[in-house]
Amino acid sequence: MTDVTKTCRDINELLPAAQKALKLFLDECKKANLDVFITETYRPQERQDYLYSYGRTREGEKVTWTRSSNHTGRLAWDIAVNKPKDLYDSSTLKKAGEIAKKLGITWGGTWKQPDNPHFEVKKDWVAPKITKPDTVIKAEIIEKDIVPYPDKPLRVGSKGKDVERIQRAVKVPVTGVYDEVTRKEVKEYQERKGLDVDGVVGQQTWSKLF
Ligand SMILES: [Zn+2]
Repeated sequence: MTDVTKTCRDINELLPAAQKALKLFLDECKKANLDVFITETYRPQERQDYLYSYGRTREGEKVTWTRSSNHTGRLAWDIAVNKPKDLYDSSTLKKAGEIAKKLGITWGGTWKQPDNPHFEVKKDWVAPKITKPDTVIKAEIIEKDIVPYPDKPLRVGSKGKDVERIQRAVKVPVTGVYDEVTRKEVKEYQERKGLDVDGVVGQQTWSKLF
């Protein structure tokens, strides 16, 4: 028999889509420094009925407004906030709600009768493709990093920033002076890439390197 007073917090009791959504949701909350934890996942109908009875046929405050919950359908979960914040700290739950929105998860806080700790998904939920702003920034930096080909080929004796770039690319000590060590490493690189093996960084080798 179901113990109606017992709360289930097991992610594995949810449907696969909800499990994925919940894991992603918790990851994103963590990244945003929201210290939340799961208070309930799957809820058997008997327990839902028991909770519904509060404030109706049973004494106490109402804790739910419905007998038909997505918890019983294994598609919903509730969270709370860790100490030192209040258990249902509204600003934390609101931020969690914003994360949920980005992930295509429904937040109970948006309902007519708000249920701030509550989140749910549809059976066919799939993770949205998120364009992370930091990835975009990285891409911009890499583009800016592309330096035009130097005026003349770089060889033993060449000096400067471009030599430093080459040294970083072929993983030799960065001295800014094209030395024998650099030359040897460039030759090996040219050989690996099927270029003319002359130890001189001309246009062809440069465009392979960068
Ligand atoms: Zn709930």
